Amino acid sequence: MRSAAVAIVGAGTTGLACGIELKRRGIDAVLFDKGCVVNSLYQYPTNMVFFTTPELLEIGDIPMTAIGEKPVRTEALKYYRRVAAHYDLDIRQYTRVLRVTGEDGAFTVDTEDRAGTRTEFGARKVIFSTGYYDKPNLLGIPGENLPKVIHYYKEPHPYFNHDVAVIGGKNSAAIAALELWWTGARVTLIHRRATMSDSVKYWIRPNIDNRLKNGEITGYLESSVREIKQDSIVIDTPKGTVEAKNDFVFAMTGYKPDTEFLAAHGITFDAETQRPYTNPETLESARPGFYLAGVLVAGMHTNEIFIENGRFHGRTIAEAIAKKLF
Ligand code: NAP
Repeated sequence: MRSAAVAIVGAGTTGLACGIELKRRGIDAVLFDKGCVVNSLYQYPTNMVFFTTPELLEIGDIPMTAIGEKPVRTEALKYYRRVAAHYDLDIRQYTRVLRVTGEDGAFTVDTEDRAGTRTEFGARKVIFSTGYYDKPNLLGIPGENLPKVIHYYKEPHPYFNHDVAVIGGKNSAAIAALELWWTGARVTLIHRRATMSDSVKYWIRPNIDNRLKNGEITGYLESSVREIKQDSIVIDTPKGTVEAKNDFVFAMTGYKPDTEFLAAHGITFDAETQRPYTNPETLESARPGFYLAGVLVAGMHTNEIFIENGRFHGRTIAEAIAKKLF
């Protein structure tokens, strides 16, 4: 059986940071990702501009540059590819980790590649850095499973001259609604609160507020979608129920970590916050030898950890593992 000192599940920005920090301490690690390197970032909207400046996205002390003040998705993809290559990380892309068994010091990682070939890897320690972008917050309403319901907004072009609904009141909803509107879709935005969220960035907020105020984007605030039908949506509004013509629904309702996967590995959680128990000094979970990195550490409070702070988990974990292994 092939083996490495550490197996890292998830080759996103945090997983890469873990791999780099371990390598710098002379600890070999193998990274697995069911998709490509920085798969979530790859799945982000095509025209995405980060909310942050390049230096806050840097890992492995490699400087990041950007043409503008804030990097765009393609610049970040290029940067993380270069960093992964520079550090010569052992990354198994398109390799899903099915299960990790064993115990601290002697884990077995059962993997399946895209051809369906199963391979076992041995590891003394395991890091989960699986992010939260795989699991959208579902609405739990009839019609949510229709193919026209989209949880991952990519780009507006295919929706030109269509009736689209955007559900949610934070940044993804605001950006999707605006892009769709200026691309020539007829946009209805439905949000359960009285205003768009204060967390919508200050350079986006006036734009979405004014489009709603002018009726250029039809807004239903303090409203919720009760049902999605093939050609319409049914909305409960303060003034009663409305049925609006609809071709596509963008449910921009956020994402959550795969807590079932963690629980299946013996990771335990705080019942109220769904925050996994971790030692703040090492990020080791309640299961010895299992470390958690990135947004997973925040449980349901996914707005607490971003690339900007999750990237430092690599150093914390690598230092803790180095102390235990040497
Ligand atoms: P989010 O911040 O979690 O917001 C989800 C929105 O959907 C909220 O308005 C929430 O309502 C609403 N919602 C959740 N469940 C719902 C339900 N069952 N029914 C109705 N409404 C529901 O998600 P996001 O906007 O996708 O942002 C996710 C993360 O990505 C954030 O950290 C954000 O800052 C980041 N982001 C970054 C960029 C960028 O860098 N360019 C762009 C977009 C997003 P409440 O307001 O009532 O909670």
